[in-house]
Amino acid sequence: MDKPRVFIARYIPEEYLAQVRQACQVDLWPEDLPPPPDTLRQRVRGVDGILSLLTDKIDAAVMDAAGGNLKVISNCAVGFDNIDVSEATRRGIPVGNTPGVLTDTTADFAFALLMAAARRVVEAHNFTRAGRWETWGLTQLLGQDVAGATLGIIGFGRIGRAVARRALGFEMRILYYDPICEDDPYAAQIGAHCVDLDTILRHSDFLSLHVPLYKETYHLIGEAELAKMKPTAVLINTARGGVVDHEALYRALRDGVIAYAALDVTEPEPIPKHHPLLTLENIIIAPHIASASVRTRGRMIEIALANLLAGVRGEQLPHCVNPQVYMTDLE
Ligand code: NAD
Repeated sequence: MDKPRVFIARYIPEEYLAQVRQACQVDLWPEDLPPPPDTLRQRVRGVDGILSLLTDKIDAAVMDAAGGNLKVISNCAVGFDNIDVSEATRRGIPVGNTPGVLTDTTADFAFALLMAAARRVVEAHNFTRAGRWETWGLTQLLGQDVAGATLGIIGFGRIGRAVARRALGFEMRILYYDPICEDDPYAAQIGAHCVDLDTILRHSDFLSLHVPLYKETYHLIGEAELAKMKPTAVLINTARGGVVDHEALYRALRDGVIAYAALDVTEPEPIPKHHPLLTLENIIIAPHIASASVRTRGRMIEIALANLLAGVRGEQLPHCVNPQVYMTDLE
């Protein structure tokens, strides 16, 4: 019998691939840049499984192109807003993701951005590099204290909680906003307070976003929300670019409505080279690297490959975002 065919949409080091190569015919996209949409549709024709990255849009057209053999879509990320999951579910195709293993790594980076924005680390480095350090100035590059400040966390899931744990070490007061808010024993244990959106916007010195991107969270932070924040507030986004309205953010940073922003994610990605946000001093923008540690990226690849293998074998995915596809089997 022919081995199942899989398309892997990005270069993965060979050392990870032995098991998959043994079980499947592997078509590996060798480039660092994602396959263009028409190439993606061509390459997935007739495959049993697709391993995608968050840069690959997997919609009905891609599923159509793959055809009736498609048994699994394995996304190498915890977020899966690049995949039309309801369409996959309608077709009975399980979708995999890589939760958990990137929680601490992403929280570390959110906190790194928070600290860097608070103490203007990137500006300071650029200042020194530009040869502008002439003396010790009493009012030079003043930032904001992190210790004792109020941290607002929107989305109190895995990563939001991991950020809260870090904040405890800085004796921050922690507020959070999440629809799943009631009687949270972990929040009680660490003294975090569940509040409504209005309160978290008005009271946070640092506001860190950790919600998934979907219809309800698209532009969750827009002009009206920014207007409620403190003029000294810092906004940190390591969730997804679409959670923040970038035009409103640009105006808010330019006009001093809030003080600073630190983004790991933008809308679109990559951010266009001439985007107005890039003209501002009071912003840090990283190229979506919050989960980019050597160990975590390795673990993400391993989970994504395990999901892919399970899917082509007809087994339940170890990490499945639409387990409803299995419930229909039981009916
Ligand atoms: P999670 O599912 O554990 O937590 C998400 C939380 O958001 C949940 O508690 C949920 O109840 C809450 N939520 C949902 N809708 C909300 C709303 N409208 N308002 C407030 N809270 C809401 O997910 P996670 O593992 O913590 O990851 C969160 C997101 O972070 C992912 O979906 C992904 O998009 C993003 N992420 C980004 C990177 C990166 O590299 N920058 C890395 C990992 C994850």
